[in-house]
Amino acid sequence: MATPYAYFKKQIVPLAEAKIGVMTHAFNYGTAVFEGIRGNWNEEEGQVYVFRMKEHFDRLRKSCRIMQMEFDYSDEELFSTVTRLVEMSGFREDVYIRPLVYKSSEVLGVRLHNLEDDLLIFVAPFGPYLDIEKGARCCTSSWRRVEDTGIPARAKITGIYANSALAKTEAQLSGFDEAIMLDERGHISEGSGENIFIIQGGKLITPPPSSNILVGITRDTVMTLAQEEFAMETVERDIDRTELYTSDECFMTGTAAHVTPVVELDRRPIGNGRMGPVTGRLVDLYFQIITGRNPKYAHWCTPCYSKVKASP
Ligand code: PMP
Repeated sequence: MATPYAYFKKQIVPLAEAKIGVMTHAFNYGTAVFEGIRGNWNEEEGQVYVFRMKEHFDRLRKSCRIMQMEFDYSDEELFSTVTRLVEMSGFREDVYIRPLVYKSSEVLGVRLHNLEDDLLIFVAPFGPYLDIEKGARCCTSSWRRVEDTGIPARAKITGIYANSALAKTEAQLSGFDEAIMLDERGHISEGSGENIFIIQGGKLITPPPSSNILVGITRDTVMTLAQEEFAMETVERDIDRTELYTSDECFMTGTAAHVTPVVELDRRPIGNGRMGPVTGRLVDLYFQIITGRNPKYAHWCTPCYSKVKASP
């Protein structure tokens, strides 16, 4: 049986013991930044591979700079804490690793300065998020993506997720799987927790960071693989909503969603309404890589178990 552990107040403790007080600043005002990292289970090797841990912690540091947070952990300290947490927890399935830097002072008053910051990391089992085989049926959200002039989307701030939650719930309660948000200019921004790509005339196209996206690590993975493996360049440019309706293929990327085809938007089928051929090739390659089965990209995968036990 797996028992989850957490890194909390500079110690590793059972997750059940990692508790914050009700006055914690981050809980009251959304003043925390976080990451979502996947550890992917490889059954044959009895191993969990953490995907692109360095890039996730690099992004966490950038989020901290935007939110004026102290974060003085080295990569080595962070990587060994994560692998230890997974190993101690003993999961033999896909996991989600959640590092969170939060304003931990228990005081009232909205601000970023003169507050303590703390790091929390926990690990939880986490299976599929969207149905990749069936693909996602999406709607254009009536909620617009937050602007850099309001709350910067390039930082993964907990408070921003009120924007994502409004969009996701509207979509699901209306019978869709996922929401696609526009920015204030009316261009495609992103899903509630995913970046968006279209394929049009053999070209891969995705909105630029200036469309108020979180600059995704899965987005970068797909752009790298498309270039390296399929000689396909990605064009970063503004995308109109109706370009999605008429695209050959469309998919979303994210640590939770992996690479998920968007098969329908606003009740219009995209392409033939099923996963397209390029998306299919990307999905297959992506899963091979994240589970540590492709030596060329082994540098993106960090194994957690020091003593690998083969499955019975
Ligand atoms: N946009 C948003 C709003 C997200 O929450 C996520 C998930 N972290 C993404 C995009 C995709 O980013 P990544 O591929 O780094 O998980």
